[in-house]
Amino acid sequence: MKLTFYVQGSAPNPYELIFNIHDTLTVSCSCPAGEKKTLCKHILRLIEGDTTGLITEQPDNVDSVCTAFLASDAKNIYDEWKHCEGELDDLKEKTKNIKRKFSKALFK
Ligand SMILES: [Zn+2]
Repeated sequence: MKLTFYVQGSAPNPYELIFNIHDTLTVSCSCPAGEKKTLCKHILRLIEGDTTGLITEQPDNVDSVCTAFLASDAKNIYDEWKHCEGELDDLKEKTKNIKRKFSKALFK
């Protein structure tokens, strides 16, 4: 199954997103990042079920993309990525607190 979506981005013409759903899920987007085969916000939004910027209303097709994504091998990598981001947020918070503590120790 091949599903095509159009998203209004920063360019005058909408970007074309294509989701090929077969044994695996493969994607393409005509935006500058997508042309370089780099993950873009358009692809990410749609696989997360966010229809922001979507020109045509295709709720069933969005559901199909989300379902295919959830069943894909890429979902495990996505989960790993999100887990890392969570750890990174925790580390940022820890770093901020220790820096504050360090500052308090110096400026008495
Ligand atoms: Zn894109």
